[in-house]
Amino acid sequence: MRYFSTRNRGEGVDFAAAALRGLAADGGLFIPEEIPRYPKAVLSSLGDMDFCDVALETIRPYVAGEIPGPALEDMVRSAYPFAAPLIAAGDRMALELFHGPTAAFKDFGARFMARAFSYLRRGEDKPLRILVATSGDTGGAVADGFFGVEGIFVTVLYPRGRVSPLQERQIAGLGGNISALAVEGSFDDCQRLVKAALGDAGLRRRMALSSANSINISRLIPQAVYYAAAAGRAFAGARDPDGEATPRSAAAFRDAGALRGGPADGAADGAAFGPVRGEPAVFCVPSGNFGNLTAGLYAMKMGAPIRQFIAATNINKTVPDYLAGGVYEARLSQATISNAMDVGAPSNFERMAAHFSLEEMRRIILGVYVSDEETRRAIARVHDRWGYFLDPHSAVGWEGADRLFREGRLPAGPLGILCTAHPAKFAETVEPLTGPVPLPPVLAKALERIPAAALIPPEVPAFTGWLENQSTAAP
Ligand SMILES: *Cc1c(COP(=O)(O)O)cnc(C)c1O
Repeated sequence: MRYFSTRNRGEGVDFAAAALRGLAADGGLFIPEEIPRYPKAVLSSLGDMDFCDVALETIRPYVAGEIPGPALEDMVRSAYPFAAPLIAAGDRMALELFHGPTAAFKDFGARFMARAFSYLRRGEDKPLRILVATSGDTGGAVADGFFGVEGIFVTVLYPRGRVSPLQERQIAGLGGNISALAVEGSFDDCQRLVKAALGDAGLRRRMALSSANSINISRLIPQAVYYAAAAGRAFAGARDPDGEATPRSAAAFRDAGALRGGPADGAADGAAFGPVRGEPAVFCVPSGNFGNLTAGLYAMKMGAPIRQFIAATNINKTVPDYLAGGVYEARLSQATISNAMDVGAPSNFERMAAHFSLEEMRRIILGVYVSDEETRRAIARVHDRWGYFLDPHSAVGWEGADRLFREGRLPAGPLGILCTAHPAKFAETVEPLTGPVPLPPVLAKALERIPAAALIPPEVPAFTGWLENQSTAAP
């Protein structure tokens, strides 16, 4: 497959170059020259396939000729020992994307990217050093995804004192090939330091540097997998049982027994929007940078049975406003309780616009936005009524769908809310509204780690100096 810049269809590169470079030379994002379709045999069995098989079928055409089948199969099986269950939650379905090691959906992209980088650089003797600036979630997922991957060292920069204790342990508690730098400054300072180092020609002559941000095509493609797997399940009239990390209150868990399994037993109160055999699903996607939603669009174009998407944002509503008014206007971001979605200029919009016209987007995507107050009320209401815990991001999705329902704009058919993080990750916001949130085993384990980070001032020489020391020491 060839990949082109969103800004210039002239000259394509292969998957390896698109993944390892991250951003095209002209500042555009890499997109595949075409979005392949699933073979008919795959489409007709999507609902019965195991998650890793869906992953293989989804990713294969994008890396054809560069990653052979057996290598891809190894990568996928080691990346995804967990899946993305589509479970019954109240009157609808939750597509739970938080069963991975950092309890947020970014695990799906980061874990594949790590394995792809390692494979694509096989035979290189110079180790690769990946620089990541994080405000919290991304750093943890990237660190965990690359942990133990040979020939790759990761440096995560985070603003000291501005990430949660859990996030700090996820970033700085691994050790090994992952180092953490606590920067005495803001997230913007961290980003500035990373950009300066990546742009430092002298430094780049002495060490191989790369980044791992969310616009990387190797993070995007694997995110199409859970859409296809879930849409296939719903189209077959089925859904999955609760998983180990499914956050229900104990009392509700008993009742949920009746809702598990197939559509026939989903009578209790809900299943109003449960799976129906032969009906394509509607997915509601809590969105910030729009990588997740863009991956959904890819899954739909590949032929997965999806009717429409709902793009739910917090008050950073650049894309809902674009869909409503037809004018794209990037803004400064505003802080909210769903802070992983505080993005005023979503970078993946450029990809969406490269693939779809405004008219097409309006046909496929319904935009909606939700305030912090409404988000909090949704967390409390869903817990009181259904015994299901939502994190603030997933709650934006849940409430966004409710809003469309009240306005008579919700499409008919099975409805899946993408639940992007485990509520225990945001306990400080969720627990005052619901009481204690059950802690999943992966987060309990992470809390036991002891964070070890080097402290640096927010100054470029301090950071580049630290990097030089690293490269002459260990790797
Ligand atoms: C990153 C993130 C989002 C936003 O996803 P995008 O792909 O940037 O739209 C939503 N929820 C959580 C928990 C996240 O970490």
